[in-house]
Amino acid sequence: MKITFIIASIGKQEHGRYVRSWIMEPLSMAVLSSLTPASINRVFYDDRIEDIPFDDETDLVAINIETYTAARGYQIASKYRKRNIKVVLGGFHATLMPDEASLHADAVLIGEAEGVWSQLLEDLKKNKLKKTYEREKGSAIEYVIPDRSIFHGKKYPKISLVETGRGCMFGCEFCSVTHFFKKSYHPRPLDIIVKEIKQLHNKIVFFVDDNIGSDRKRARELFNALIPLKIYWISQVSMDICNDEELLKLMKKSGCQGVLIGFESLDSDVLTRMGKGVNRAIKSYDYVVKKLHSYNIEIYATFVMGYGETKKVFQDTLRFGVRNKLLYLAFNHLVPFPGTPIYAKLESERRLLYKKWWLEPGYRFGDVAFHPTNMSSSELTNLCLSYRYKFFNLRSILRRLLNRVHWANHIKIQAYAILNFMANHETTTRRSLLIGGAPNLIKKNHE
Ligand code: SF4
Repeated sequence: MKITFIIASIGKQEHGRYVRSWIMEPLSMAVLSSLTPASINRVFYDDRIEDIPFDDETDLVAINIETYTAARGYQIASKYRKRNIKVVLGGFHATLMPDEASLHADAVLIGEAEGVWSQLLEDLKKNKLKKTYEREKGSAIEYVIPDRSIFHGKKYPKISLVETGRGCMFGCEFCSVTHFFKKSYHPRPLDIIVKEIKQLHNKIVFFVDDNIGSDRKRARELFNALIPLKIYWISQVSMDICNDEELLKLMKKSGCQGVLIGFESLDSDVLTRMGKGVNRAIKSYDYVVKKLHSYNIEIYATFVMGYGETKKVFQDTLRFGVRNKLLYLAFNHLVPFPGTPIYAKLESERRLLYKKWWLEPGYRFGDVAFHPTNMSSSELTNLCLSYRYKFFNLRSILRRLLNRVHWANHIKIQAYAILNFMANHETTTRRSLLIGGAPNLIKKNHE
């Protein structure tokens, strides 16, 4: 038996190429491969960096889709199903929209693959695939070390993705993580994480956890276990970590180089509406920056625009990022992901431009998909774009460079240069990307 694993892209450009920047090893595919018995042959294609040989023989195609990659994932599924090859769809979007996904697949894997993947393979052998597979609530997860051999021969950055836990205990209204994991956090066993890191070829690790500090006690244990491994790591965390001096010391000692933090808004009323109480409990955003920088920890700050901000809020946010000489600041606009409270709210207020923006022909990456309250959707789209360009113009890059944190070691200065000098190019190229791909390619893919 042979399985083809595929990670779908957002879509290719008119000339057929994807926008290449920061395409990392897709961990979910390596987990799935690890759960697959050794007797089964497997091959993996990354739609973001290579062409898929659709005519190759295979018994099953497993495609991972997120909301932005769903349209392209469905095109790929259709190509295989026309040849009567079974397709299973999984990933975040398949979990958020199983009914939609099942229109394009023979089976849908809802939630985590652990605990159901082997059953699905057994059913496939008997030609008795069920429409959906979902792990029973409360059943034990079978933790594995991801099979990274499937990445051989593909050129990914020399950063390994590792998961130390899944989920987050907070409940921000725009976040699909909280919906997927129902405000819960599931740590992986420490001995497996340590064993996995010891097997890696790269010394730089991106812990892909949604909030690595979600459970403080567990975070302490994890960081202590990382110290002897002498790695450099980055991750995502909520800003309440700044109130825990001991944890910050452990982060630094265990090799933390930087963290992505959702600052979301400078306006505390907006934070309340977002359900981002964790940010409101902090003295000030300047305090967060000062504290993390005092430990030489870089900050990749993300903001969510679309909660009724005026142009002044954009200016203030830009000033905040430049004044604090941040590594990176993302002017993101609100994205109504299906299944989130904000999606339901915008839908009930009839403010969604399209019910399913992720399948809307002509919808481009970066387009605002709802009616903001105080400006048009295109104004918000353009404001986010123009402030991205302002934050990453040469003057701002040089000004922010005058921060000793960026010069603390060769990894930090390289990351500063790459992230900042690539940002404008990435914004421009991604901006033109049609969800699902250019019309000529979509047509070709449906033939
Ligand atoms: S803190 Fe982050 S991961 Fe947790 S619910 Fe909020 S946005 Fe999602």
